[in-house]
Amino acid sequence: MHKLILKPGREKSLKRRHPWVFSGAVAKVQGQPGPGETVAIGSATGEFLAVAAYSPQSQIVARVWAWEDRAIDGAFFSRRIERAVEQRRTVLDTDTDAMRLVHGESDGLPGVVADRYGDTVVLQLTSAGAERWREVIADALLEVSGASRIWERSDAEVRALEGLAPVIAALRGTREPARIVISEQGLQFEIDLERGHKTGFYLDQRDNRRRVRTLARGRDVLDGFCYSGGFALNALAGGAKSVTAVDSSADALALARGNAELNKLTQAEWLEGDVFQLLRRFRDQGRNFDLVVLDPPKFAPTAAHAEKAARAYKDINLLAFKLLRPGGLLVTFSCSGGVSADLFQKIIAGAALDAGADAQIIDRLGPGADHPVALNFPEGEYLKGLVCRVAGQR
Ligand code: SAH
Repeated sequence: MHKLILKPGREKSLKRRHPWVFSGAVAKVQGQPGPGETVAIGSATGEFLAVAAYSPQSQIVARVWAWEDRAIDGAFFSRRIERAVEQRRTVLDTDTDAMRLVHGESDGLPGVVADRYGDTVVLQLTSAGAERWREVIADALLEVSGASRIWERSDAEVRALEGLAPVIAALRGTREPARIVISEQGLQFEIDLERGHKTGFYLDQRDNRRRVRTLARGRDVLDGFCYSGGFALNALAGGAKSVTAVDSSADALALARGNAELNKLTQAEWLEGDVFQLLRRFRDQGRNFDLVVLDPPKFAPTAAHAEKAARAYKDINLLAFKLLRPGGLLVTFSCSGGVSADLFQKIIAGAALDAGADAQIIDRLGPGADHPVALNFPEGEYLKGLVCRVAGQR
């Protein structure tokens, strides 16, 4: 087997079972491994540390498959995928036919994400190692999940860092239909497999959509960044008095309007626009709400973007606090890996202060159980949310 030998002292993170090897930690490469090929990782003193996939183009030059010296083959992928799917069966108690089956590093499969939408599994490969094992992974997923087809949506931007081109394809089974309807906690959502965001839906927000449903009764609700209407439709299902939903993408709003009809929840107002501007307009118009949901795209993919992201989060949350009536609720999220839960709370505190709002945290939110975070991989923790209540009138 090809080998990566680390510089002295650089084995520490691997010994804590962190699954990434950065290029600066490598002293030499023995043999001539190609992109995605399996390599053994050894310490400077010759100790075996792990078997990993080689990514010559990436800063993360290797991602660990296993901590023991074992063959990486079809049986390995079948076992890992079986384990991931089995774990979902035991922890996910929710009424849905859409869920994440494989969540990358946290399921021991770096660069592999697989989401189930009814009878279709959507696969996203984002590392050279995952790319190399595409066919084996597709076969194992088909067998373990019992789904009838596998779609590939390997068009995430991070692939470029690994030197990989985007791929959108039907891997197993038919390409049609490219739109399917899933059901989540009694609501139906249409998924655009070809052009939808991520693999088609924000599965990680499932529990939080349910939470918003339970909070919405009798309230005037604003859903900023609504995408295909997840929070907005849950608010209506929960008895909201009114729902205003905003997104800058016309495609997202078309999906959202379709989903509203599908569920016969047609009383929402759907607005195409920029949330940053719209919140200002509402402030200037003196428009108020009792529940504001803010689920923006990731402003900070990495910690390097944290400062700029912090300003953006503060801006929209400050405005949201201003729009809330006394006793109103702000349900606010960050899905930025580069913004920790701690920092996010500080940003929201600063926003409330500057808005002159007296507010409390009444709940902390995160992704559902189908998006686990391995304890040895804190980078897997990206989604955090707060439910804040603005004080009522004194
Ligand atoms: N809450 C949604 C997911 C939101 S994803 C759900 O549960 O399904 C973020 C959304 O923000 C995307 O749909 C994107 O089109 C939209 N978006 C990005 N920047 C925006 C902006 N400045 N104003 C309004 N929408 C924006």
